[in-house]
Amino acid sequence: MSDESLLHQVKRTGVLPGLPDKHFIDGAWRPSAGGGMMESFDPGRASPHATFAAGDAEDTAIAVASARRAGEGAWKKVLPRERSRILSQAAGLIREHAERLAITEVLDSGKTISEARGDVAGAARCFDYYAGAADKNEGRSFPLGEDYASFSINEPVGVTAHIIPWNYPLSTTARSVAPALAAGCTAVVKPAEQTPMTALMLAELLHTAGLPNGVCNVVTGTGAAVGSPLTAHPDISHITFTGSTATGINVMQAAARNIASVTLELGGKSPNVVLADCDIELALDNVVGAIFENAGQICSAGSRLVIERAIHTKFIERLVQRARDLRMGHGLSESVNFGAINSAEHLAKISAYLDDARSRGLAIPTGGNPTLDPATGKGWFFEPTIVDNLAWDDPVVQEEIFGPVLAVQVVDDFDEAVAAANCTRYALVAGIFTRDLSKAHRFARDVDAGQVYVNEYFAGGIETPFGGNRKSGIGREKGLVAVASYCKTKSVTIRI
Ligand code: NDP
Repeated sequence: MSDESLLHQVKRTGVLPGLPDKHFIDGAWRPSAGGGMMESFDPGRASPHATFAAGDAEDTAIAVASARRAGEGAWKKVLPRERSRILSQAAGLIREHAERLAITEVLDSGKTISEARGDVAGAARCFDYYAGAADKNEGRSFPLGEDYASFSINEPVGVTAHIIPWNYPLSTTARSVAPALAAGCTAVVKPAEQTPMTALMLAELLHTAGLPNGVCNVVTGTGAAVGSPLTAHPDISHITFTGSTATGINVMQAAARNIASVTLELGGKSPNVVLADCDIELALDNVVGAIFENAGQICSAGSRLVIERAIHTKFIERLVQRARDLRMGHGLSESVNFGAINSAEHLAKISAYLDDARSRGLAIPTGGNPTLDPATGKGWFFEPTIVDNLAWDDPVVQEEIFGPVLAVQVVDDFDEAVAAANCTRYALVAGIFTRDLSKAHRFARDVDAGQVYVNEYFAGGIETPFGGNRKSGIGREKGLVAVASYCKTKSVTIRI
């Protein structure tokens, strides 16, 4: 079936036939040991679109055992250049199945089809990038003088666990698993219970690309039933977790008991600083994209606008218009550019923040309410929302709402903007819009963030390291630094 007719059929029926409903363990589909099943909901319709296996500790243990066997056996024998070839092949297969993956992502997550297509393209690019890294993981030599030969080897850490959130299911799985495989590790992936499908599909594609049985396993189910036993398993050497700070703390505690290393990509409340000297059109485009893409459900969303008083009133007027111009609806409709909220629970959480803001008399120039797909009267949606002129200690400024809610802080000058940017417990990303190169550099120097964007929010790619400081996390994904987190250095020194 052509991509076009597939999209047309799924729009009509609301389901995509043939989605996986079992775990992917040891190179094969495997039902849950306990026989349990769960439902996955289409957020754009607020109704179930598929079922999948509800795993437990037994399934998790089987997956870890299979990953350990593969790591000590077949995968160990695969040459680095062959790992490169497999990852490269996987990138090609992702592109071949791109539309099916994108449609699945829309049904599971609620995002728009154009966002999902972008995520799929990014996942393929991620495998291309790490394919290039697998055979270049070089060690170093150490100068001990002529009587010694001393060098280091980057060995794979072993079995790695990957806990994936629901906002970017495929791209987070790809950016987490690809460098682990490039390093020679094996993987057990636990997708979020809301969005299990594309991780399963990716595991199957990796298998088709030539990955030996057991190298990449996916166990679906809840955080309590699968995530918790996975992170506590004594055979896990490294855990990469993306999600909330609260769960990240639990994951780190579980890792500590086994002396496993962690990469934690946690929450954010990232500032987007707009100075009076900036290119206003450029800043408007970027402020809108930074908070309303994926309906604001992005750890690195520009969820705080820090703006100079001189341009505040006019800028907000135009921003309100841009927010009202967004076309909300089911993600499979190609005319839509603003999708759904992932779950009823999450919609209730966002709504509670806005109810509280209203009860305290805060200025909400646009949005502030849960709503429905205007075309069907269904789904979990929240209006693009701006809360203006906030005190720095307001919960709307301090807490990660993780939805389409922009918190505005008005400042008098550059120095106050930097202080405002640094005023939360998070430190993930920070953006600035200015024509003043000196201010841009001073901002990059003085802001506490894992990544700084100047005159383009979300600038960068798989090449640029990504991660947070403070309560936003520890360690870095993306870039070559990600491969290093899946390696242990062994130094070998020989008296000659
Ligand atoms: P969680 O942090 O609880 O979930 C993220 C992942 O962790 C999911 O796969 C989840 O599984 C899993 N998990 C949950 N509990 C455990 C555990 N004890 N051990 C191991 N894994 C576990 O986030 P929520 O989905 O509950 O969202 C809550 C808030 O977190 C959001 O409102 C948002 O603020 C933030 N968040 C941040 C994200 C980011 O990109 N940094 C992404 C998602 C959420 P399961 O879903 O199956 O329970």
